[in-house]
Amino acid sequence: MDLCVFCLAVVGKSYIMAAIAESANEKGNHVLILAHRNSLIEQHKELFENLELNNNLTRIESVFTEVRHLGEHGKVDLIIIDEAHISGASSYRKVCEYYNCKRVLFTATPSRLDGKPLDLADVIVTGISAKELIKRGQISDYDYYAPNLDVDFSDVRKSCGDYNTQDLENKMSAKKIYGDILKYYKLLGKDQQAIAYCININHSKQVCDMFNEAGILAKHMDASTPENERQEIMNEFKEHKFKILCNCNLISEGITLPSANVGLLLRPTLSLPLYIQQACRVLTPVEGKKAIIIDYVGNVFRHGMPTDDREWSLSSKVKEYYNENEDGSFKIRICQNCFSTFETAPVCPYCGAVYEPTAIEIQNIKEIQLKKVEEEKERKRQEIMKRTAEKVKNYKNPEECKNFYELVEMGKRFGYKPGWAIIQAKRLHLYKK
Ligand SMILES: [Zn+2]
Repeated sequence: MDLCVFCLAVVGKSYIMAAIAESANEKGNHVLILAHRNSLIEQHKELFENLELNNNLTRIESVFTEVRHLGEHGKVDLIIIDEAHISGASSYRKVCEYYNCKRVLFTATPSRLDGKPLDLADVIVTGISAKELIKRGQISDYDYYAPNLDVDFSDVRKSCGDYNTQDLENKMSAKKIYGDILKYYKLLGKDQQAIAYCININHSKQVCDMFNEAGILAKHMDASTPENERQEIMNEFKEHKFKILCNCNLISEGITLPSANVGLLLRPTLSLPLYIQQACRVLTPVEGKKAIIIDYVGNVFRHGMPTDDREWSLSSKVKEYYNENEDGSFKIRICQNCFSTFETAPVCPYCGAVYEPTAIEIQNIKEIQLKKVEEEKERKRQEIMKRTAEKVKNYKNPEECKNFYELVEMGKRFGYKPGWAIIQAKRLHLYKK
């Protein structure tokens, strides 16, 4: 059985799903399309209607409904799963096991949020890179800012492979931090419509209040917000009736909000897929748009740029990202003048400010230089020892040695203990400390 995952950055998934379903239907095969959010299901149904693909051979279903009604709609020959990075969930597993047929899984980030293998698939197919999609105008280009809020996350506990959300909330709830969020939104977000990705419901509501108190209209929604209310909020957002949409985890995947120009990353995460899903959500292309991502929590230093090329794998985690070049300098630097992020360069390519390496970066560079000096010393020492060993190869007695190193090599040759060379050196007045 051939199973595969399609990894197609942010665009085009629904159309490919439709094309695959259509071709399977033409051969008389029954297709089941699964998603986990109603909004995604609605989107797919609408597209199938627009493409006039309505027939009784394809069903579009919520995985939660399907798992309670297995087999009730007859046979299934092909399962298509949307947003498959969550396909490790038991409901998906049960449905797949029950029908035991071919599967095609779709996601922009073929890696589970918890980093475990995506074992519902055995082949991975990678689509066009995000960088290429930007070039083609299929996703929007963006400016990435990472202002430093001066929060230390190093002592935050970990739960289920990511940061503990309660610890994060405690860290991010200081008054000064809220002030900085507002300050940098005004400065860098330029008053445009934004989606704020928060830590949890409580944090999202607080961020929402903070914007409203500052006179910038904001609304909050989360998974417990009733579906019709959620829809209304999204419609109002699309109609520009308010500026900031605050949420936690809800708008990470599958929801298209083209009018959002700015992404506010307020949740530090160790999950690469979560980071990419959130950061890229504002890249839905609109004529003339250049999106803005404001990363308040340094996710870029944990994972690199959201559109970097990555080697995805079904069996293991994506290679861990280190924000360091070989010489210890940072791969991604933040301009202290305009807060833009850029790849290692002496001068900010956006505003021309000279880059001053941070204290940590200077320390890194020094340590690596020191290490290099030590390595060079060691290399030279090894070379001398090798030459010396060559010289003493034919010596028969210690009197022939001209210096301490020759005695050491000679001792080694005869298998003497290290003390032998010292005793001989003292005797022959060749001892050097
Ligand atoms: Zn700059």
